[in-house]
Amino acid sequence: MNAQGERWILHADMDAFYASIEQRDHPELRGKPVIVGAQSKRGVVAAASYEARTFGVRSAMPGFRARELCPDGVYLPSNIEHYAAVSAQVHEVFLSFTPEIEPIALDEAFLDITGSLRLLGEPQKLAADLKRAVRDATALNVSVGLGPNKLVAKLACTLGKPDGLLVVERPGVRSFVDPLPIRRLWGVGPVLGAKLASLGIETFRDLSSYDPALLASQLGERAHELQRLARGEDERPVQAYREPKSYGEENTFETDVSDRTRVTGALTAHSEAVARRLRHDDYAGRTVTVKAKLSRARGRREARDSSASTEPYYPLVTRSRTLREATNDGAVIRNVAVELWDEAKLAEPVRLLGVSLSNLESGGGAQLELFKQPKTKLGRTLDAITERFGEHAISRAVERSEKLTPGRTKKRGT
Ligand SMILES: [Mg+2]
Repeated sequence: MNAQGERWILHADMDAFYASIEQRDHPELRGKPVIVGAQSKRGVVAAASYEARTFGVRSAMPGFRARELCPDGVYLPSNIEHYAAVSAQVHEVFLSFTPEIEPIALDEAFLDITGSLRLLGEPQKLAADLKRAVRDATALNVSVGLGPNKLVAKLACTLGKPDGLLVVERPGVRSFVDPLPIRRLWGVGPVLGAKLASLGIETFRDLSSYDPALLASQLGERAHELQRLARGEDERPVQAYREPKSYGEENTFETDVSDRTRVTGALTAHSEAVARRLRHDDYAGRTVTVKAKLSRARGRREARDSSASTEPYYPLVTRSRTLREATNDGAVIRNVAVELWDEAKLAEPVRLLGVSLSNLESGGGAQLELFKQPKTKLGRTLDAITERFGEHAISRAVERSEKLTPGRTKKRGT
């Protein structure tokens, strides 16, 4: 919130992103209907230039349908690596306006600019500056919408396209959203849309002014939330990417373990896995922590609330050491972990063992400098998107093993 207690959210969406990149890079394609994706019979359109859209081609449309509508279009394979690199450039521009960025896709993000306004000027000016900065950096157009929340900002962005800049101030929210067709509302797909239409609800205004009790009897629990959204109310925060604070691996044993060979085996495996993930993300860390959960349940946990009182309680022991230099070398981490284990001299078997590295530095270990593949912001942006939207969000994610399997942790800052 700023001094006036107002929040300002900016939604940025690159215009026909993949197709625009192809037209930028290949001037002979400018002015032509360019369709990216839809290479195979079963493929779908990833992006369509505005020229292609005049034929009715849309993204996510099956390729055969696009070819029916636009047989003379230029159909190009998707070069996702290249688009991702441009996306990282755009992200870099966004970062010069605010650190509070939530990427939604390679071509789309929410920015909370509340804290930037005092420094960078009024919303309208900031938005114009941002558009210009994106164009200067990439020669591409971005549409932006601004509003007091995500919902309004996104709607403003969509309605302003292409090359849009639409600012909706809080007092104008109702008159802005009221006449919009209800299918523009988040969460209203074909099924819910048909249901609402059967109730005579065609616009945001129809929905927000509908009798709440009657609507609840038709739609159940979500009626209340839908009506809030239809009034243009939306409290969801922009969830900015945070740098990780630690990387950890742990496992719970089938049977409790005290044998040193099995313990060091687990510590070695965890250390190597942590090191691999650090190298993948181009981090190194200075603090090695070993944690162990003891096998013997201790009575009952001190009850802070009634539910906790029934849980058996296994004490957690942690030992840490901070190294002089950051490392992402599995053998180094492993040796420290084993020393920490030996020094702890635990008097009973353990049921869980874990190794983590914190005190992270980006850029990897110095000793690996020669062999290092530097990981750019691009990589981190891709990772952030992948983590949020799953392995299929971008094809590059296929090579990545960063799935949240049980026992793997990546702790982030707040
Ligand atoms: Mg877009």
